[in-house]
Amino acid sequence: LGGGIRAGGTAARVATADPVDAIVLRARGIQKSFGSNEVLKGIDVEVRQGEVVAIIGPSGSGKSTLLRCFNGLETPTSGTVEVLGEPLSRRKRELAKQRERLGMVFQRFNLFPHLTALENIIEAPVHVKGMDKASATALARELLAKIGLSDKADAYPSKLSGGQQQRVAIARALAMQPAVLLLDEPTSALDPELVGEVLQVIQQLAQEGMTMVLVTHEMAFARRVADRVIFMADGRIVEEGPPEQFFERPQSDRTRQFLRDVT
Ligand code: ADP
Ligand code: MG
Repeated sequence: LGGGIRAGGTAARVATADPVDAIVLRARGIQKSFGSNEVLKGIDVEVRQGEVVAIIGPSGSGKSTLLRCFNGLETPTSGTVEVLGEPLSRRKRELAKQRERLGMVFQRFNLFPHLTALENIIEAPVHVKGMDKASATALARELLAKIGLSDKADAYPSKLSGGQQQRVAIARALAMQPAVLLLDEPTSALDPELVGEVLQVIQQLAQEGMTMVLVTHEMAFARRVADRVIFMADGRIVEEGPPEQFFERPQSDRTRQFLRDVT
C-alpha cells in the first residue's frame, strides 16, 4: 500500500498525538433505551487524537448503538457526545455539519451501486462539502492509491470484491477528512480470504495517526493495532485497558469468560 495523504510511520503518529492530547470524541453518561429495552446503561468514553480504540463484546451488548450515538445516527436518551469539544447538536442542520467530522464505515459496504468507485468517493466532498470537482477527484485518486485500487477508479461496486468494496467505503469516509473514523465490524461480512486486505488498510491508517474507534471480533488485530481495548457487555463498559494488559491479565471474570469463548 504505497503513498498516502499524510506522511506515514511513527513520526507522524507522535506528531499528531502531541502535544496536548486533544480529545477528539468524548461521550459522557450515554444511556439509550428502545422502548423498555435499556441498551446502553451509562457509558463514558474519551478518545484522544491519534488514538485507536477497539470495542469488543458479545452480540447485543450495544456496540453498534454506541457507535451510532457517537456519530449522531442515534440520539442518546440521556448523556452527551462531544466532537472536538463541541456537543452534538439536536438541530438537524447543525448535526449534519458536525457529522461531516465523523467518518463511518459499516459492516455492509453501502456504496452507491450506480456510481463508480471514484464517483462514490467524490460524492460527499462535492455535494455535501462543496469541494470543487477537480480537487475532489485529485483527492479521490490519492485515496484510491492509498487503498491499492488505483486501477478500479471507474469500476462499479458490483464489479468489485467485498474486500475491494469495503476499502472503497473506507476511502469514501476518509474523503471527508473526518476527525475520527468509526468502523463497525468492517470485516464481519467478508469472506475470510478478503479480511486481511481490509485490516491492512486500517492498520496503515493507524500507523499514520488516524483517530479511530473500531468495533471488531478480530481479537488478534485489536491486540496488534489498538492503543486501548474496551470490553462491553450488557450495555456497560466492563473493562478497558491497553491491549497487552487487557488480553494478558483481564481483571474481570466476565472478560475472561468472553476471551475464552472467542479464542
Ligand atoms: P451489538 O452491536 O453489540 O451487537 P446493538 O447495539 O446492535 O449490539 O444492539 C443492542 C440491543 O439494542 C439489541 O438488543 C438490539 O435488538 C437493540 N436495538 C438496536 N437498535 C435498535 C433499534 N433501532 N430499535 C430497537 N432495538 C434496537
Ligand atoms: Mg453490532
